[in-house]
Amino acid sequence: MNVLEAGKLLLKEYHKRGYEAYIVGGCVRNLLLQLPVHDVDICTNAKPEETLAMFDQVYQTGIRFGTVTVCWHGHLFEVTTFRIEEYGRQGRNPTIVQYTSHLIEDLRRRDFTMNAIAMDQEGNLFDPFNGRTDIQEGRIRSVGDAVERFREDGLRLLRAVRFAAQLGFEIEETTWQAMIQERSCLRQVALERIVQEVEKILLAPDKDKGILLIHRARLIFQLKSEEDIVCFRATNDLDVLWTLLFQLTLPDNGISFTWQELPLSRKLKERIHWLMERYLHHPNATVEDYVILTRNMPQDWVEKALQFQWIMNGERDTWEKQVEEFNRQVEALPIKSIRELAIRGDEIATSLGIPRGPWIKEILNDLWEGVNFHDLPNRKAELIHYLVMQKERWFSEGSNP
Ligand code: ATP
Ligand code: MG
Repeated sequence: MNVLEAGKLLLKEYHKRGYEAYIVGGCVRNLLLQLPVHDVDICTNAKPEETLAMFDQVYQTGIRFGTVTVCWHGHLFEVTTFRIEEYGRQGRNPTIVQYTSHLIEDLRRRDFTMNAIAMDQEGNLFDPFNGRTDIQEGRIRSVGDAVERFREDGLRLLRAVRFAAQLGFEIEETTWQAMIQERSCLRQVALERIVQEVEKILLAPDKDKGILLIHRARLIFQLKSEEDIVCFRATNDLDVLWTLLFQLTLPDNGISFTWQELPLSRKLKERIHWLMERYLHHPNATVEDYVILTRNMPQDWVEKALQFQWIMNGERDTWEKQVEEFNRQVEALPIKSIRELAIRGDEIATSLGIPRGPWIKEILNDLWEGVNFHDLPNRKAELIHYLVMQKERWFSEGSNP
């Protein structure tokens, strides 16, 4: 049974017991757009305790805000009690959550008209804010007074942009003007939530549109040059996209939108740092240079670096060819890794009469380069001869070979 069928059966369970229950939010929106439905949110006039008593597999996930999770026919459903939210002056998190027995009150607190449509188990729609028309016309419009809604919760500014990028919708004019006017509301939003939304924008089909909207409303960054927006169309690699974003924009709106300050995963930070450094030091490296420069890097990192450099240098359409050429050149190398050298690290130490140490890795790399690019034969005797000849030079250059 798919999640939607299971959801409709769940609504019936509520009805049997005399409660109202509806499917709401992204699920209804996606159904109307004939897009795949991944999760089904349900709202009901049953209190959380009542839902908890109704099912065996039910979990208290956000009871403070009236949300419980029900497992039904193998699917998870977030069930939220109809509620009204009241916001303090700071915004973002409601200070008072009040249950209500009216569906319309619950829909009124939702962010955009397209997300404020309820559907019953027969598929009838309850659409008091004309969300259906806005969906048909591809429009994102705040429910009620846009300025007020953004003041309540600054995250909605970024949600509007994210939906525009995901669905290819336009932001309705009054809503858009309110976003520009209330841009400072975003400062109240946790950086973690900002990162999550930006990531969704980067993964969206119209990511460049999303980035341009952020730039134009000056929500979190400004593009150094608006023309650079084309760079984002050239790749779908998330690491490269994040790096481009930090490289091509400056923080704005008092939000520290830098890779060092944002709560990004350690792995992502590592990649951004490496891509930026590599580009900074060799902005015009050729594919041949890459074969040497990145010899100890995993293949996927090299591909990202090639993408980043070629996109940065305005040759967006050719990075795929460069990756192919890189792979071809690596394939053609006499030895692909230092493990294929005819000499081992301990043999190097013995033949030079120096105790083993981290310096051996450098020497192995040097031999790798010699064999691949300077006609050094990959035979033990020749390699030792070469090392003995080089020994003096290495040690005269510094304490480390
Ligand atoms: P998707 O799950 O596809 O990202 P969604 O619309 O389902 O989109 P959720 O974050 O799952 O988004 O939220 C479910 C519903 O809850 C929304 O459709 C909207 O009605 C309401 N909602 C979520 N976040 C907010 C918010 N910050 N302000 C007001 N309503 C919200
Ligand atoms: Mg959802």
